[in-house]
Amino acid sequence: MIMKSSLWKISEQEKKPILSLITKGKEEEKHNERFAIFSFEDMYNIFSDNEIAIFEKYLAFDSKELSKSLPFLGIKEPKNLVTIRNQHFTTDKLADVPPVQYLPQKDIDALAKLNEGMKKKLGKEVNVLYGYRSPARQVFLFFDILKRIFDFDFDKAIKRVFPPEFSEHASGVVQGIDFITQDGIKSTEFTQTPEYEWLIKNAEKCDFVESYPKNNVYGVVWESWHWKYIGN
Ligand SMILES: [Zn+2]
Repeated sequence: MIMKSSLWKISEQEKKPILSLITKGKEEEKHNERFAIFSFEDMYNIFSDNEIAIFEKYLAFDSKELSKSLPFLGIKEPKNLVTIRNQHFTTDKLADVPPVQYLPQKDIDALAKLNEGMKKKLGKEVNVLYGYRSPARQVFLFFDILKRIFDFDFDKAIKRVFPPEFSEHASGVVQGIDFITQDGIKSTEFTQTPEYEWLIKNAEKCDFVESYPKNNVYGVVWESWHWKYIGN
């Protein structure tokens, strides 16, 4: 079997600025709620030249080469972005849940309607774990996951965290929302919740669809928590 050569074999030398940019970003995120919507300029203001060079090397790739099986969405500045604060949780075990999220007003309104229906039936609602993030924040997430989950395996990480133009969180064209239950259940465990069961039966009536269902055509991992509003 012929193995395809890696798109970017991360060198030992490159690991250093990747590690340091992750540390800097996480520190910034702790005290700056705008980090989720940072521009590249904002990001580069906190980075050293070596760290900027890492971002630039990533951005020099043709993103269509990186994400062949995914639909290309493009990049647009989202309109009427609203800050989401103080969501109601019934648990305080929320260590890695960011305090603030952002969504366009129309998606917030649509989600309120969806939650109204769910509350009537289940007595609970879903919260927003991740809404909109800027293209720069998306690239930052890529390096975070590259290190944290994939031990610097670029080819594997790029299949999990898409380039901004392909991401429903960062493109500003299609808006994905990652749900978390009010008792803090998220990610792969979301599949087991009554909230998910309700969504599967009822979300379509509110114009919400699961973006990457089980065995999806894109070959993307099943993300039961990731939905989008397709009304308007
Ligand atoms: Zn998502």
